Amino acid sequence: MSSDHSSFSIPHSSLATRRRRVALLGATGSIGENTLRVIAAHPDQLELVAVAAHSNWEKLAGIVEKFRVPHVALFDEKARSAFQSKIPNPKSKITLHAPGVEGLLSLAQLPEADTVLVAVVGTQGLHPALAAIEAGKTLALASKEILVLAGKFVMDAARHHNAQLIPVDSEHNAVFQCLAGRPADAAVRRVTLTASGGAFRDWSAERLATATPADALRHPNWAMGPKITVDCATLANKGLELIEAQILFGLRPEQCAAVLHPQSIVHALVEFTDGAMLAQLCPPSMTFPIQHALLHPARSAAGTEGALDLDRLLALEFRPVDETRFPMLALARQTMRTGGSAPAIYNAANEIAVAAFLENKLPFPGIPRTVEKTLAALAAEAARDPATLDTVLALDAEARRVAETFL
Ligand code: NDP
Ligand code: MG
Repeated sequence: MSSDHSSFSIPHSSLATRRRRVALLGATGSIGENTLRVIAAHPDQLELVAVAAHSNWEKLAGIVEKFRVPHVALFDEKARSAFQSKIPNPKSKITLHAPGVEGLLSLAQLPEADTVLVAVVGTQGLHPALAAIEAGKTLALASKEILVLAGKFVMDAARHHNAQLIPVDSEHNAVFQCLAGRPADAAVRRVTLTASGGAFRDWSAERLATATPADALRHPNWAMGPKITVDCATLANKGLELIEAQILFGLRPEQCAAVLHPQSIVHALVEFTDGAMLAQLCPPSMTFPIQHALLHPARSAAGTEGALDLDRLLALEFRPVDETRFPMLALARQTMRTGGSAPAIYNAANEIAVAAFLENKLPFPGIPRTVEKTLAALAAEAARDPATLDTVLALDAEARRVAETFL
């Protein structure tokens, strides 16, 4: 047992199968749970070979036991020690990787894994995602913040290493399906992402000023982690997603649009120059895009939920998004037009503001205010194209520091 590697024993199935072998970073979260449901429903096609979480070691231990996962990482050192001392079966065989980003990097590059699903909230998954690409893995990417922070570097690396990047975010997975996995070419006029409108879809500006974290966490259609649920309430999630779409599919800012669609059944629409539109529809459950991303290009029966029942489908409603009540969307568009490092600053300031809102240290309208002020304070830096990944990371840290001063 080395200092950063410890071996326990838990039997795990032979790796010499043709099943796709998945490393799941962020296994204890909302995307993690849905991924486990998909893997459990497709035992002949999918195998879980590695899991990572931040600190929820008890939940992770349950997953390791149920799925007999041979490789484990916990970011938090104390949680890792607790996990280590509780592993029950002395005959089992588990490799517990190093704490911190080092453990995530080893899982991302595991020779036993074919696909790495990154579902770590925020930007901690950036280096592991890059490591997976460099190791030639298929990257199934849920963590949109990674692309908003450093999209140029992630996309360049994927091209350079000829690695497949499959979006897991439902709207982008929908676009990926409509484009049949190809980048957007001259035939694509516009990509439209749908927005449920979040918890405050029908709230007035006056009422929004009084919104509490508990109000924001009541999402009408989706059950997700707290950060992204608040992002849905401010529409920052749609802002981040427009940026994500621009990066993933190589679009110009004016080719990326959002429309309000309260039912969350159509996830995205791709409009072509001849006026034809393709849309992707499925029930509002992340198991659908996750299953698609893990099995692509194969398709298999939806093992976890029923498909849409057109006999019961009454109406699909679309309306424009109100950017006055939800300035985070207008701010995202502004960063897309500015280009350079503006999206990274938007993302960093948003993360700081959302964390403060969740801790009751900032009122709801303070989120866009903080982001707007941070973008203004760093306007010169925002306009500059980042030369290296280190430049982006330094700016990310600076934007977080500046955002704190506006809380
Ligand atoms: P959750 O808050 O539910 O879960 C976050 C997960 O990340 C947990 O497993 C957590 O572990 C883990 N984690 C956090 N920090 C680290 C770290 N440093 N190292 C290892 N693991 C870490 O988030 P969601 O599942 O909702 O979202 C995950 C990502 O997917 C986000 O980027 C989000 O934007 C994106 N996404 C989510 C959707 C959804 O439906 N939830 C839809 C589309 C995109 P622990 O439990 O130990 O803290
Ligand atoms: Mg989404």
